[in-house]
Amino acid sequence: MNEQTARTKLAEVCRLLYDRNLTVSAGGNMSLRLNEKEFIITPSGRNKGLLRPDEMVLMNLNGRTLSGGKPSVEKGFHIALFKSNPDTASVIHCHPLYCTALAVRGEKIKSALTPEGVILLGDVPLVGYFTPGSKKLAEAVAGHSSCKAMLMERHGAITQGRTLEEAFNRMEELEFQAKLQMLAGDADELPPSEIKRLSKM
Ligand SMILES: [Zn+2]
Repeated sequence: MNEQTARTKLAEVCRLLYDRNLTVSAGGNMSLRLNEKEFIITPSGRNKGLLRPDEMVLMNLNGRTLSGGKPSVEKGFHIALFKSNPDTASVIHCHPLYCTALAVRGEKIKSALTPEGVILLGDVPLVGYFTPGSKKLAEAVAGHSSCKAMLMERHGAITQGRTLEEAFNRMEELEFQAKLQMLAGDADELPPSEIKRLSKM
C-alpha cells in the first residue's frame, strides 16, 4: 500500500475507534503494514481522535524508526504479530471499557455466546499481565499470534486483520461480545457442534 494512502486510512480508523468509544484519550495504538518490511504506527501519547495522517510514524520490522515522530511504546507486539503472520496487515490495540473490565477481573471472553462471535473472533485468549511496552508483554502476545483477538490482563485488547477494516471490525465485535457477556454472563455458549460448524464459515 502507498504510504500516503495508508496514513490517511489509519488516521480515519483511529478517529472511528475514538468516536465509537473503543479507545479513550491517548490510550491504545494502531498500525498498518505497507509491505513485507515496513509499516506505519500511531505516535506515542497522542489523543486518537485528533491524529493527523502526517503524524503516523514509519518503521521497519527490525524496530527502526524511518520517519519523524516517536512511535508507540507498544511497537514490540505490533512487530511480533507482523513477523509471525505475513497475512496480517493491521494490528489494533485499545482499552475498550467492557473488554478492560473483563481483563481487570482476569475473566476470559466467552466469544461463543452468538454466531457472530465465533465467526469474527474465534477463541480469544487472556494474556497474562506484563508491564506495558515491555519485551515480556511482546513475547506473551506473540505466543498467541495465531488468534484473531486477545485480551491482556489488567490492560486491554488486541485484534489483528488482513485489512485495517478487518482489524477494526474484530475490535468492535470484541467489545460488543464483552458487553454482552457482562449483561448475559451466566448464559451458556453455543453447543460445541455448532461452534465447529460456524468456525468453518
Ligand atoms: Zn495499552
